[in-house]
Amino acid sequence: MADAKELILLIEDEPQMRRFLRITLQAQGYRLVESETGNDGLIQAASRNPDVVLLDLGLPDMDGLEVTGRLREWASTPIIVISAREQERDKVKALDAGADDYLTKPFSAGELLARIRVALRHAARQRMGRQEPVFTLGNLRVDLAQRQVFLDDKEVHLTPIEYKLLSVLIRHAGKVITHRQLLLEVWGPAHVSEVQYLRVYMTQLRHKLEADPARPRFLMNEPGIGYRLKYDPEM
Ligand code: CA
Repeated sequence: MADAKELILLIEDEPQMRRFLRITLQAQGYRLVESETGNDGLIQAASRNPDVVLLDLGLPDMDGLEVTGRLREWASTPIIVISAREQERDKVKALDAGADDYLTKPFSAGELLARIRVALRHAARQRMGRQEPVFTLGNLRVDLAQRQVFLDDKEVHLTPIEYKLLSVLIRHAGKVITHRQLLLEVWGPAHVSEVQYLRVYMTQLRHKLEADPARPRFLMNEPGIGYRLKYDPEM
């Protein structure tokens, strides 16, 4: 229950879903504001200044993609998109438009809470304006200042592209990053469609960093969307 006083804005029109989220979030001590429409959600976001926005993609008055775009015109509040399976393409668009993460219905309370912790941690780090110089995750340790990577204290040699890819995943640790975002950050704007680059380099990274590259523990594929460095700040 540490730090669990943050305010969460929930924009969702389904009463059942709102009820599940309300019970889950309030049990953790989060404060909650609820909106049933995109328009009201934007008004609440402006007046209440929430720490995280949970946003359903299918709303009665406008779609979540539009809400994301309008919110991003003036706020950097983390947005976690909640979507149905059939909204896969909108999900990617929402992420590329500035949403931070997504959950596909149905999801568990545990998944939801982990995503919220990651979003809050990223927001806090953005406010501080810096990243910790050393990142650790299980037996992986990355010294970002020295650009050195260690597995069980043994140094692993990465190529410059592999290192760049890993460092971008670390900067977004715990959050999904779309193919487009990763390609843009690692290879640049001329290569945002070259999804096969990612497949090749992620395979190489897994071979160097995962005990069983076929069953990755950290370097996760998010089918049709992108990749995620699996990480929960509470672990
Ligand atoms: Ca809906």
